[in-house]
Amino acid sequence: MKNKQKENRIIGTYIYPSFANKNKIYKIKAVLLEYRKTAAAIAKLQWKNFYTKGQFDKNMNIKSLQSRLTERYKQTCQWQVVSILEGFISNIQQEFAKIVFSSNLPEKTKRILLFLNSRKEWLIKKNKKAVWYENNEKTEYEITQEERLLSKKIFKHILSKWNKPRFRNISMMLDSKVAIAEENRKSKTFDKWIKISTLERNKPVFIPLKNNTYAEAVDGEFLNFYQIEVKENKLTVRLIKELKKKEYEPMIPEIAIDLGLDPLFATDKGDLIGKQFLTFLTKMDEKITRRMAYLQKNGIKPSQDTMYNKMVKNLREFLKNEINRFLNHIVELYRPARIVVEKLDFRSPELSKRLNRLIQQFGKRYITEKLKRLNELYGIEIVEVNPAYTSQQCSKCGYVDKDNRKSTHEFECKACRYKINAQINGARNILNRRSIEDIKIHTPKKQVLKILIEQYLERHKGCNSAPLEVLSSNPYFSEFLDTLPIPLECDKCL
Ligand SMILES: [Zn+2]
Repeated sequence: MKNKQKENRIIGTYIYPSFANKNKIYKIKAVLLEYRKTAAAIAKLQWKNFYTKGQFDKNMNIKSLQSRLTERYKQTCQWQVVSILEGFISNIQQEFAKIVFSSNLPEKTKRILLFLNSRKEWLIKKNKKAVWYENNEKTEYEITQEERLLSKKIFKHILSKWNKPRFRNISMMLDSKVAIAEENRKSKTFDKWIKISTLERNKPVFIPLKNNTYAEAVDGEFLNFYQIEVKENKLTVRLIKELKKKEYEPMIPEIAIDLGLDPLFATDKGDLIGKQFLTFLTKMDEKITRRMAYLQKNGIKPSQDTMYNKMVKNLREFLKNEINRFLNHIVELYRPARIVVEKLDFRSPELSKRLNRLIQQFGKRYITEKLKRLNELYGIEIVEVNPAYTSQQCSKCGYVDKDNRKSTHEFECKACRYKINAQINGARNILNRRSIEDIKIHTPKKQVLKILIEQYLERHKGCNSAPLEVLSSNPYFSEFLDTLPIPLECDKCL
């Protein structure tokens, strides 16, 4: 695991202001349109390869593929297509594992399916036997036809639910075969030039760039990759840098974070961070909702409205900045070796459906990205735990009750009367959750509840327990009441 992390490259992508006239932009746009068409055609061929040979092939011969792109461009395009498709497949792989883990299949079948999944062997037979090691002992097992069919079925099930990557809106990831950036030493007007090949052979365009001072200062090395995009006749050029890992000396073993919106983060140490977050979102929500009403009245699609798009873009940038800022703050303040979070899911009843959807979609992605970056840069371990009942359980005595949570902010335990901010309570439960072995990330909610209740009853036998009238009015405990001796047996007081 450690070694694997070292191999992972940390990549930063930075916009460099570019200055291209209409004519140059027109030429690049022509490339981009052809590039997207070609990408879609290549993807078709790649899927064919995948279905017949079980894998994509970035060096596939595509000379006969009709395209106005030069052969070099086609090859660059193919590499990008394959890397997108492989990313998609690796998401399927994760989903597959999730489904298998949370299924009721026999342990052995799970093993076989996970073996096939780890080798992406869903469609095409590659290995006769499944092999795995447990406590240094090797187990071999001949895979049956039924197991293969089941694996294929799960794979196809996921594939049918998900949209395959489309290429009609991609930006180009150009390598040195077709693009190169160089320092401009001849004049002081610009810092760099980027030379980009066009559809016409030997007629590249040269585009002046201004340095992105932040990107120039970041510790790392530029790669010969350029992300090129033209949107509404505006050209965006991004340079890509491989970043260096940072020295990091942890001060505490771990910190747990509860994600909410009001505030954004709470920690088990008692921090409430991002208190203005919801206020700001509510304001944005009102604006967006008003705009939507206007658009609807006039029969305009939101995606075609510049103002609406700008609002959504602002929202995304706000989310990203705040998330980065607060997570940086937590890392600087505590220097944890490990960050424990719950499976990410945050929404607020105070916001519209649309905004909740946007926050779900982008907030989740930005937090995942940021945590991944913290892991790569500092080696901080990120642990996700099962979120079931973390908001209803008392972090002090372990009692679970829907009524424990009095409001968004207040938590008061019905059993031990402990009062605490609801989100800090959540963060503490998240921390405790990590050490409950039976609760895995995909353990079904019902099972989690059973484990929590059994733990509670075990820990609070007799007079330490909640009063019987509290327990008997709590539907969570209804199945357990008959197992309790009445009056509750207590070693200490009987
Ligand atoms: Zn309690």
